[in-house]
Amino acid sequence: MTTTYDPLHAAAHPEPLEDVTLYSAPLIIPVTGPVIVDGAVAVADGRVMHVGSRRWLRRALDQDLAAGATVRERHWRGLIMPGLINAHTHLQYTAMAAVGRGSYADFHGWERGFDEVYERLQQSDVSPWRHAAEEGAAMLVESGTTAAADIVTDPEAAGALASQGLHGIAYWEVMNWGNAQWRAEGIGYLVSQLGRMSRQGLPRIGISPHAPYTLETEPFVDLPDIARQLDMRLHIHLAETPMEAGGGESTLTTYSAAGWRDHEWDSYSQLKQAGKQASAIQFLDQLGSLGPDVHIAHGVWADAEDRRILRQRGVGVALCPRSNRITVTGRDAPIREYLEEGNLLAVGTDSLSSSPSLDVLDDLAMLHDLARGQGYDREDLTHRLIRMVTLGGAEALGMHVGAGRIGQINAGATADLAFLDVPVDVATPHGIEETLERLVCHGAGTNRATVLSGRVVHDAGALGEGEVLRGHGQARDIDHDAIAAHRRHAAAMAIQQPEPPQSPTVTERSNA
Ligand SMILES: [Zn+2]
Repeated sequence: MTTTYDPLHAAAHPEPLEDVTLYSAPLIIPVTGPVIVDGAVAVADGRVMHVGSRRWLRRALDQDLAAGATVRERHWRGLIMPGLINAHTHLQYTAMAAVGRGSYADFHGWERGFDEVYERLQQSDVSPWRHAAEEGAAMLVESGTTAAADIVTDPEAAGALASQGLHGIAYWEVMNWGNAQWRAEGIGYLVSQLGRMSRQGLPRIGISPHAPYTLETEPFVDLPDIARQLDMRLHIHLAETPMEAGGGESTLTTYSAAGWRDHEWDSYSQLKQAGKQASAIQFLDQLGSLGPDVHIAHGVWADAEDRRILRQRGVGVALCPRSNRITVTGRDAPIREYLEEGNLLAVGTDSLSSSPSLDVLDDLAMLHDLARGQGYDREDLTHRLIRMVTLGGAEALGMHVGAGRIGQINAGATADLAFLDVPVDVATPHGIEETLERLVCHGAGTNRATVLSGRVVHDAGALGEGEVLRGHGQARDIDHDAIAAHRRHAAAMAIQQPEPPQSPTVTERSNA
């Protein structure tokens, strides 16, 4: 009997699974659902198949398995959560940890310290960036991080995430352009660099217009247009330094802005020198640079109007509290207000040039203490912080929904998992809450295994070989029916998981 292959039918009736791994633990944090005591995550073909209680899952799985399928259980004594997401880093500056260990009088002092080392490294006979960036990516994996927003300043560093199979976005950094030079050379240079990155086959590329004090107005108008036409996201250092703060009363709005519209401002600093007290966030908002495809780093100097603009435009904020202290941004971010007002938040380490580690849980602990210190007294703090370092990061990167989604454990999501060695107490609800607080406050350095797209990429003795529950755990004789079934299964999966957006084809264009 011949049947016509119907991909929608196949998607609704997935073929039996051949090879499944059950990761089980006393406590699982799916993020998109309640925590699960004595839980398990079933993983096959790089995806989560099920998550639930271990007992239920072992039963439920029976219905999904092919005859002769292999099921292996790998038990972990601690806590399983989605792989962590580092929403702001520069992996290539892993070569610049000496700068991060220095101490500085103010932000400019840190910048000078940075520039000196950067220029020295640029003059090395062999470019250090590729090696340093890959070393940074390996540190992420070791810390349980499975995705990052990585800013790339030198082309040699572009493949860092891809070198470890990490998810996330490599953002090409654009900085130090005045308007005239940008028109004459900047756009052409940008397009050639994006073309170079897309030829490397990097899964996701974005654009990072550096900051309002290193770029004049025209790049800030053009870059969002270019990114949006190429289906790329944007990431900006914004409201990091005192010079980007607004001045009290005078907000820049469409209605109050005669002084804004009657003059073509060359740059944010020109606007400020003319005595306009608009903040950097208001400035970029007037240029149309903000939107739901943008997330910013730092947001330290965001006042109430700035935070309102960020919420209104759908812009996420990657908070980097440890970096802010080292670079002397002059204050901590208004974490209490961000939380109370409901801004979209994520967490970043920034680079080793302004942070002691690339473990985003170190920043999470500091955010906890800062939020409490600023007077945030609600009981949901640990839950919201856990969201920030998982689903919030995914949302900041635009990767929280769809077939390749990350930052969550649910059926069909990408199987990215972290295995943390935090003492777990599930005897009472209070014990569970205390466990979550231990994760937030003392979780840094406790990751013992990392699963990326269903593959164990790091295992410090946590998982071992596991126990085969069914099958032999080895290849069987060729079974042509099974292969045909597997193909149908793969086709069905293709419907559920379209290829990640192709790296856009970037063609050289004239600078006219
Ligand atoms: Zn940064």
